[in-house]
Amino acid sequence: MRSGWVDQDAQRCVDQYGAAGVNRDLALRVYTSRLLGRDPKLVLHGGGNTSVKTIGRDLLGETIEVIHVKGSGWDMAEIEPAGLPAVRLAPLRKTRALAALGDEEMVAILRSNLVDPAAPTPSVETLLHAFLPHKFIDHTHSSAVLSIANQSEGETICRQVYGERAALVPYVMPGFALSIRAAQVYEAQPQVEGLILLHHGIFTFGQTARESYERMIALVSLAEERRPAGKTQVFVAADLPRESAPVAQIAPMAQIAPMAQIAPIVRGACSIPDPSAQGAYRRMVLDFRTSPIILQYVNGRELGRYSQSGVVTPDHTIRTKNRPLIAPPVPLPLAKSFAEELRAAVQRYVTEYQAYFARQNGRQKTPKRQLDPMPRVVLVPGLGLFGLGHNAKDARIAADIAESTVQTITDAEAIGRFESLPENDLFDMEYWSLEQAKLGKSVPKPLAGQIAAITGGGGTIGAATGKLFADNGAEVALLDLDEPAAQTAARRIGGAALAVRCDVTDGASVGAAFEAVAARFGGVDIAVSNAGAAWQGRIGEVDEAVLRRSFEINFFAHQKIAQAAVRLMLAQGTGGALLFNVSKQAVNPGADFGPYGLPKAATLFLVRQYALDYGRDGIRANAVNADRVRSGLLTPQMIAARSAARGMSEQDYMAGNLLMREVTAQDVAQAFLHHALALKTTADVTTVDGGNIAAALR
Ligand SMILES: [Zn+2]
Repeated sequence: MRSGWVDQDAQRCVDQYGAAGVNRDLALRVYTSRLLGRDPKLVLHGGGNTSVKTIGRDLLGETIEVIHVKGSGWDMAEIEPAGLPAVRLAPLRKTRALAALGDEEMVAILRSNLVDPAAPTPSVETLLHAFLPHKFIDHTHSSAVLSIANQSEGETICRQVYGERAALVPYVMPGFALSIRAAQVYEAQPQVEGLILLHHGIFTFGQTARESYERMIALVSLAEERRPAGKTQVFVAADLPRESAPVAQIAPMAQIAPMAQIAPIVRGACSIPDPSAQGAYRRMVLDFRTSPIILQYVNGRELGRYSQSGVVTPDHTIRTKNRPLIAPPVPLPLAKSFAEELRAAVQRYVTEYQAYFARQNGRQKTPKRQLDPMPRVVLVPGLGLFGLGHNAKDARIAADIAESTVQTITDAEAIGRFESLPENDLFDMEYWSLEQAKLGKSVPKPLAGQIAAITGGGGTIGAATGKLFADNGAEVALLDLDEPAAQTAARRIGGAALAVRCDVTDGASVGAAFEAVAARFGGVDIAVSNAGAAWQGRIGEVDEAVLRRSFEINFFAHQKIAQAAVRLMLAQGTGGALLFNVSKQAVNPGADFGPYGLPKAATLFLVRQYALDYGRDGIRANAVNADRVRSGLLTPQMIAARSAARGMSEQDYMAGNLLMREVTAQDVAQAFLHHALALKTTADVTTVDGGNIAAALR
């Protein structure tokens, strides 16, 4: 591992933050924290922490000795001075005299000694930083270090690798007890450059930011060098069923097609019926990964041993649980038996998880609340791995951790035999009181865990619907022929919002778009078939080609979208919602608007047909009839022309309804949201037109 230290960059950090009143120590602390945070081989997603002891001022301006230590909720890769809150050092050092200190009490002491009471809570490893005498301290969960420390012979290997340069700390859960233990180990060998925390990670320290950082790089490099050079094939491959062998051999990108078929099956198998309402589910979002190293790992004959031994560092249990689920090998072509075998495997996983919880909860002083028993990582032999989470971000974190775990365990097995911690220690971390306290505090958003695909997603109504769905917790894919427009709308939504090029009149393009959505998020729960285009013409004289073109986009495209969505929904087996943008033209024809109204009337009937045919599968079909909404179908020029023709102002024209209110894209989006949430409503049409008796549905 190479050092990333660059003198000019360090100086730039000092100058830039210095101008904002940040002292040199803290500015350099920010600089090297980022260097560490940027390397996924050292820290992942909020893991690891750093500190610096310096002189600061309290709120009255008095000079005090403080320790700046990473605050919870901050990621080292993007840390700012505000992410390293100052804590009064003297009271923290005093706690060393205590016989014991519970986690809640410890957090209370940390918070009550923050210089700024509004600052984030300092890391639970703050006392460890405070008890060591060094000015700068760096802590990471380096995979190379974990690959030599997580061994049955871990202690011996670490001693061989580090000699006098680092001292070994046996595993103790993070908190007060670990802080005391680490300080004692250091004090017995004060010449060391760092501490190796078995089954946890590594600390290095120094008098300058650079010294501490360079020691981290040096000690991690020693661990990396321990792996035998040139040993590329670590695992002996299992005999996968003959039919599935080709999947393992083709290049990762070529696996998208089978992966997009498998993802919805995995997603469905890992959903839990929500007892709060019939037809509701707690769904997962998926994040797929594959690579030659992942394939070697999931195809290994002993996958059942090394993948099931447990996490590589305990705080991963909070994100991934202790064990991943191993899916049955995928038959090619994909057969029904796969879904059945997978569901059985999930059921076994759940049963084992419940037994583990019951067994462990029995030894707790304060009973714990059981977390949902579903896996967060699914290993699929022949294919790769999925990270699972209640949103795209959590799924990505689980997948990142899983990928790094594959690397660490592969390295560990290249040296010896990977070994995790005993179940008791892992349970203590997964069910840590500080984590348990967070449970039930945040109410999930109404569409949490759901995936919505919206056609015409780059247009006014599609983009507004996407934004509203995302605000309500859904992962959103915006499909549009105009890909740049969809990309702009997706960027405005932010998060994981996806833009996909899609020609809704082309079956292959629709199929590919839904495949892309399934590949990215794992499936689809809500399809908003919104794209449309208006054609005019007096019906007795209109060219048949015009009518047919309108039918292509205003009827057949809706059928193509619904069909593609239903295929995924049936694979998931958790119902779904088909939503259609129909039109008041479907019930109330406008003069010379036949070419538009006729296919829309057929689409209104299509809604009812889907409601009838797929009700038993929990798939609902509903429509929104909107009128006179500013959009690509009703442009400013058209509004100007039509209002002028009627001798009205544009405002009066737009608000020409019973309520005299202009209908907006936002109003239409609200109606779609209502339908997405109305679990007992199907074959319904909601009119959003400000009131028009002639277009009222009977
Ligand atoms: Zn740690």
